[in-house]
Amino acid sequence: MSPTRIALIGIGKIARDQHVPTLAASLDFELVAGVTQHTPPERVPGFATIGEMMAAMPEVQAVSICTPPRGRLAIVAEALAHGLDVMIEKPPAATLCEAESFTELAREAGRVFYATWHSREAAAVEPARAWLKGRTIHRVAVNWKEDVRVWHPGQEWIWEPGIGVFDPGINALSVITHILPRAFMLERAELRFPANRAAPIAADLAFVDTSGVPIDVDFDFDQRGPQTWDIEVETDQGHLKLSMGASRMAIDGVAVEVGEEPEYTRLYRHFARLLANRQSDADLTPFRLVADAFLLGRRTEVQPFDWNG
Ligand code: NAP
Repeated sequence: MSPTRIALIGIGKIARDQHVPTLAASLDFELVAGVTQHTPPERVPGFATIGEMMAAMPEVQAVSICTPPRGRLAIVAEALAHGLDVMIEKPPAATLCEAESFTELAREAGRVFYATWHSREAAAVEPARAWLKGRTIHRVAVNWKEDVRVWHPGQEWIWEPGIGVFDPGINALSVITHILPRAFMLERAELRFPANRAAPIAADLAFVDTSGVPIDVDFDFDQRGPQTWDIEVETDQGHLKLSMGASRMAIDGVAVEVGEEPEYTRLYRHFARLLANRQSDADLTPFRLVADAFLLGRRTEVQPFDWNG
């Protein structure tokens, strides 16, 4: 089958770091254009809007949206109106209602829609899910701590309401909602807001699953020194640890070989499968948990955030 002709929308950090090189190496896709207010990816034309792109290049078949979450509805709707299949970066939208509307819009338009969770494609996620099957889980602990200054230099959108530390944190939620065998819900949350920002820089979340298993989650966006993206699961038959954003796995302290395939290679392979089967994939569970954290979370004010602090 010939590769799907795809355009990237929003050519920022993640588009350049992951999407462009992954598409360049993919046999399933051909990157043919960029929709950007600035500079398109190398060797492809750039357009200010989807409409302008489709007028010039009606052969484009799909778009991958890499803009910040706020404002996605207009972009998704325009893409669908032009008959394009659509893949979006996480988090899916600014609000739950907006995210929920995408699948329905895509269904009405007869197009494929994929709300991605790149961390679910990390190498240890499927092995961990398989290992946990049939074991009795006693408790789960998540420590997802990184320095926003290092990973999101100057990205002001990250401090918009509803984002902050949940931008990386939702990656951890996307993993645990996939590997744990039962649904879980929020019991308590504490959200720490810098005095000068509209989004939290840290969050402690206490979940419990439908069998009463506690799931304690600690998010921090102000972590200096070593960065931590760990998930630990205590079971009746050993201790599972996922580290480095679920790219590494150990059982009772002994490393397990899980391979090295990059997340975005698997992400685009999944999109190719969805396109081949004309299916959509839009699991909003991680985003729902984030919304619940804002519903239930007690807010405390902490010292102002400074990009140079
Ligand atoms: P970014 O570097 O700020 O780039 C976002 C791009 O979107 C901008 O360069 C711009 O593209 C376009 N854009 C449209 N409206 C914008 C607005 N109001 N503010 C800023 N940019 C706007 O962000 P990013 O890190 O690539 O993140 C984009 C999405 O990918 C987010 O949902 C994020 O959670 C997700 N993501 C990021 C990472 C990461 O490590 N950075 C990892 C995984 C997922 P043009 O200049 O081309 O118009």
